[in-house]
Amino acid sequence: MANQLTPQSSGIIAAGNHSVVTAGSVNEESSFAIAQQQLDNVARLIDLSPAVHAVLRVPKREITVNFPVKMSSGATQIFTGYRVQHNDSRGPTKGGLRYHPDTNLDEVRALAMWMTWKCALVNIPFGGAKGGVIVDPRLLKTEELENLTRRYTSEIFPNIGPDKDIPAPDMGTNPQTMAWMMDTYSSHAGHTVPAVVTGKPISVGGSEGRNDATGLGVVIIAGLTARRRGFNLEGSTVVVQGFGNVGSATTRFLAKAGAKVVAVSSVEGGIYNKRGIDVTKLLEHVKNAGTVVGFREAEPISNEELLALPCDILIPAAMQGQITARNAGKVQAKVIIEAANGPTSPDADDILNDRGIVVVPDILANAGGVVVSYFEWVQDLQCFFWSENEVNHKLEAIMQNTFAQVTDAARRYETNLRLAAYSVGVSRVAEAATTRGIYL
Ligand code: NAD
Repeated sequence: MANQLTPQSSGIIAAGNHSVVTAGSVNEESSFAIAQQQLDNVARLIDLSPAVHAVLRVPKREITVNFPVKMSSGATQIFTGYRVQHNDSRGPTKGGLRYHPDTNLDEVRALAMWMTWKCALVNIPFGGAKGGVIVDPRLLKTEELENLTRRYTSEIFPNIGPDKDIPAPDMGTNPQTMAWMMDTYSSHAGHTVPAVVTGKPISVGGSEGRNDATGLGVVIIAGLTARRRGFNLEGSTVVVQGFGNVGSATTRFLAKAGAKVVAVSSVEGGIYNKRGIDVTKLLEHVKNAGTVVGFREAEPISNEELLALPCDILIPAAMQGQITARNAGKVQAKVIIEAANGPTSPDADDILNDRGIVVVPDILANAGGVVVSYFEWVQDLQCFFWSENEVNHKLEAIMQNTFAQVTDAARRYETNLRLAAYSVGVSRVAEAATTRGIYL
């Protein structure tokens, strides 16, 4: 049912000459229902016109592809993938590609909508999109992953491109995945097109700093939030859930800033040392073991226990739906920085708000990745590349400026940081949509 976007399920009913949006109760199982509810909340706050609200409440384009992949056993296996383009009022759509066994159209719709607000919030000329393939990449051989990536890319070829929709890495994908996508797209196009994807290796048009950009952005925002809350990042205690691209880079930058990382986890479980974890040794362990589990200088802990640890800053950097009404009452952090997309449910948001715990929303906290993706796209189009220093300085300026705009909006509307960030992002998209008008 979650995969059908009927007028009822989208919450939109025709009324006279325009559409009216119904609020309804939100289904916590559906990331897209949560994303829609968040939009509804901000629509009331900023007095969004019903027509624009109706347009923004649903994705513009959704593509589902079922495609065959030759496995190394010689057998052919069918996989299902999605690409959802939520809104392109401000420019070509942009968003990651996720390989995960539980991904589905509902999740990809939500992630695409969040990308629209995120790109607008950091004021880069992109709309929002997201892709997903139902697969556990850990179970496939490299050659099978390459075959899968190439076939998926060729299936969505007509709908992506530097001026249409630009994928990037997300959960389960990495720079190598982007290199295969770029090569496949280029083979179809008949010439090399580096700007079709971002997050590529440097050797094929990637940007300095892109790999670490999301983590660096998270730590810049964590520092600004800590200061606003009256403490320093240096010497603060931090818990990080998820130790992939984002979680591991975040942990490295936290250690560099002098924060004490007391616990981290991956899907297999977590580790805890209240005196602080030696991050260099942990990275070495993960390189060999492929997981944080088994690290000797810390005690094992479950992901559930990890979220309830006493600390100054909690950073969910794994996946959506981690902090819900069920466990929000147990969180002991002063501040939550959402490095993952959608880790906190609306009910949990209310509980955390009531308890005085500051939540910095994903569309602000993890925007560093898409900002440097934008830099990569610009560099590819100009065939003119920047130094890592230049990239990081430009990133820092955008993150600081955006943080100031969000805290200003929070003061102006007397609301929390999530609604404030949405108010800035959604207003910009609404302005572009209104200015362009509706093509009849
Ligand atoms: P990744 O695949 O590199 O790493 C994911 C990590 O989360 C792994 O350590 C995995 O073991 C862990 N994990 C998965 N399920 C878990 C669970 N149920 N409990 C605890 N840990 C779990 O992915 P990533 O690129 O680091 O992305 C992580 C999050 O950050 C996602 O929500 C993604 O959408 C978001 N994000 C990523 C980027 C980026 O540039 N890669 C940018 C913005 C946001």
